[in-house]
Amino acid sequence: MTRRKLIAGNWKMNGLKEDGLRLAREVAHRAVAASRAAGAGLHCDVLVCPPATLLFPLAEELTGSPVLLGAQDCHAKPKGAHTGDISALMLRDAGCRFVIVGHSERRADHGETDAMVRAKAEAARAAGLVPIICVGETEAERDAGKTLEVVGRQIAGSVPDGLAPESLVIAYEPVWAIGTGRTPTPDDVADVHAYIRKRLAERVAAAEGVRILYGGSMKPGNAKELLAVENVDGGLIGGASLVATDFWAIVEAAQ
Ligand code: PEP
Repeated sequence: MTRRKLIAGNWKMNGLKEDGLRLAREVAHRAVAASRAAGAGLHCDVLVCPPATLLFPLAEELTGSPVLLGAQDCHAKPKGAHTGDISALMLRDAGCRFVIVGHSERRADHGETDAMVRAKAEAARAAGLVPIICVGETEAERDAGKTLEVVGRQIAGSVPDGLAPESLVIAYEPVWAIGTGRTPTPDDVADVHAYIRKRLAERVAAAEGVRILYGGSMKPGNAKELLAVENVDGGLIGGASLVATDFWAIVEAAQ
């Protein structure tokens, strides 16, 4: 089965208005030009997930381009007394199509558990957003030979039941590879992605259709090799998504 690749930029807590708008504009210009040159639209889906403060201005900036907008987190409830939080419905209202949930930085910084991540993914779905559910082992877990056990537990606990394959994206992000310049070997990535798909089949009908992204120090120099691995259906890109030329080189590597 062919799954359309998704290249997603996670800007994390980076970007004031002027810089964020400039970066979005640079990505949008490339996307419009590439899609015109191809005649039949872009060869893959391209998504940017800026900080929440930039969602509304970016939605406007990206109008007319094929670049999609997403957020980095949402609350599990649609509204209410949750100071400082943002609901999935609000993200949808701001023009988002996707939301990252359960990123390892949120699991670590905010003590997010699998159950919390699952509730957020359910809220995203209810609001009409596609959750990008992040899973991945720490270095200690990898060294202890527990990668598949950890990832399997996260899939079992974080993925809601009954989602259609197009309503769900998984991102495998080894914690030790995020922002470090280190990556697993393509064989290791293939093993984990195959295992994720197998575990997904227990939770989701037509798991073959679910996109599984790789994330963790993906750069222009390694993107082609990583994106060619079986069951790798795109990338979740942190640092390299903050430089338009690097991000676009990764988009091009997804051809
Ligand atoms: C991320 O945090 O989602 C990520 C993949 O970061 P980086 O690309 O910088 O490793």
